[in-house]
Amino acid sequence: MKQTESLIFEKSSPGRRCFVFPACDVPVKPITDLLPQNVLRKDDAELPEVSEIDVVRHFTRLSQKNYCVDTNFYPLGSCTMKYNPRTNEETARLEGFTKVHPYQLTEQCQGTLKVLYDLEQMLKNICGMSAFTLQPAAGAHAELTGMLIIRAYMEKKGEKRHKILIPDSAHGTNPASAALCGYEVESIRSGRNGLIDVKRLREVFTHDTAAIMITNPNTLGLFEKDILEICRIVHDCGGLVYCDGANMNALLGIARPGDMGIDILHLNLHKTFSTPHGGGGPGAGPVGVTEELQCFLPVPRVEMIDSTSGGDTEKEIQKKYIFNDNYPDSIGKVRAFYGHIGMMIRTYTYLLSLGREGVCKVGKYAILNANYLQHKLKKYYHIPYDKTCMHEFVLSATKQKKKGASALDIAKGLLDYGFHAPTIYFPLIVEEAIMIEPTETESRETLDAFVDAMIQIAASIEQRPEVVKGSPKTTPIGRPDETKAAREPNVKWSKK
Ligand SMILES: *Cc1c(COP(=O)(O)O)cnc(C)c1O
Repeated sequence: MKQTESLIFEKSSPGRRCFVFPACDVPVKPITDLLPQNVLRKDDAELPEVSEIDVVRHFTRLSQKNYCVDTNFYPLGSCTMKYNPRTNEETARLEGFTKVHPYQLTEQCQGTLKVLYDLEQMLKNICGMSAFTLQPAAGAHAELTGMLIIRAYMEKKGEKRHKILIPDSAHGTNPASAALCGYEVESIRSGRNGLIDVKRLREVFTHDTAAIMITNPNTLGLFEKDILEICRIVHDCGGLVYCDGANMNALLGIARPGDMGIDILHLNLHKTFSTPHGGGGPGAGPVGVTEELQCFLPVPRVEMIDSTSGGDTEKEIQKKYIFNDNYPDSIGKVRAFYGHIGMMIRTYTYLLSLGREGVCKVGKYAILNANYLQHKLKKYYHIPYDKTCMHEFVLSATKQKKKGASALDIAKGLLDYGFHAPTIYFPLIVEEAIMIEPTETESRETLDAFVDAMIQIAASIEQRPEVVKGSPKTTPIGRPDETKAAREPNVKWSKK
């Protein structure tokens, strides 16, 4: 049932209150005597006058309109909207973590530092990198950190390289981060198979190029099978290979970027490592590097001093964790204090609860689920790069568009079936793109229900495309103007 919720201001009734204080039994002093004249309001604040139950019902109803991973399937390609286990939340809320103050002495927060130190070791193991910083606040911020490291490395070697090479299938943040760091961005066209054209790479990667920024698996959900050759070409030319590992979901427990020859890698803890995200919530984008690039990592770095002493029988374990700022070549700090520690604790919990065995299954199930969906939908939608995919795949609604309903209409149509819309019109190299990422946390029943909805939408486009074009019908708001809210924001309520 479509349920509209009025603004809380519209529920207002003069004089109505949430609670009433007992009469004051001490002398009352007017506020004008207590505050300086210049901070006092000229007019009374226009607050809603409502009862307690009005407030409770209003906000509870609004919260129930929220679509989230906890309510249903969320196949948003490239965003890895997987289920986030509740244990992660329990540990991140432990008082021992939440009540540590950033200015506290390190002796007093050894437990927190140990978690950060151990998490870095785990990520090193999982990715095959030599060291990580956990500081960056999100994927894009991690990319900028990586670019700063590349610049520092080239400067130290006395090399003037002003270009970064980026495939045309890259996430939009990649060219933005390179440009923000002062680099000129050169795009390299993908081959017809959706992968980097190695022959072309050999021609365009020259001595004025500092690095190539690649995503593997790429945004088409395909694994760059020539990665070893790509790394060789770049390294032979004195360049570095940056890997956008926001989509590490597909590789978990199967392959390690470090073993492929990647020099710098970033992860999105808020995607692959199961910490809630979306709606602009906090993220964390650790950056891993090779041995050679370690000295450029942001400071401080979390380190362990092991001064375990005594004989075998009376071993006194003395492991001390410290913040080390003493790296003269470091690019400096990239985030206040040590970044979003709550996200790191969630990741640490997630990895410990899965264990080595569990982590090794993540990638396999993510790939299985994506291929299952791709296979089931193949008959109904065009698949421009029809191959075994990794954790996600891209459909094209060109067939449906000819009948009169676009990728956008299909995405809106899914809302009426109770599903979140997939990512659409990305990657840019696919016309009418619909990018689907199921993640490893979904059951076969959920995937089948999604397939049924997609098939029914395709069928209804064949017969009556106008029905799909008119969707969604069941959501509180149908189709808002897509740009009006951004171009003419109206955030002020007025009685008129
Ligand atoms: C999500 C994503 C990013 C950006 O990460 P943010 O945390 O949103 O800044 C970069 N690259 C890829 C491939 C992504 O999927």
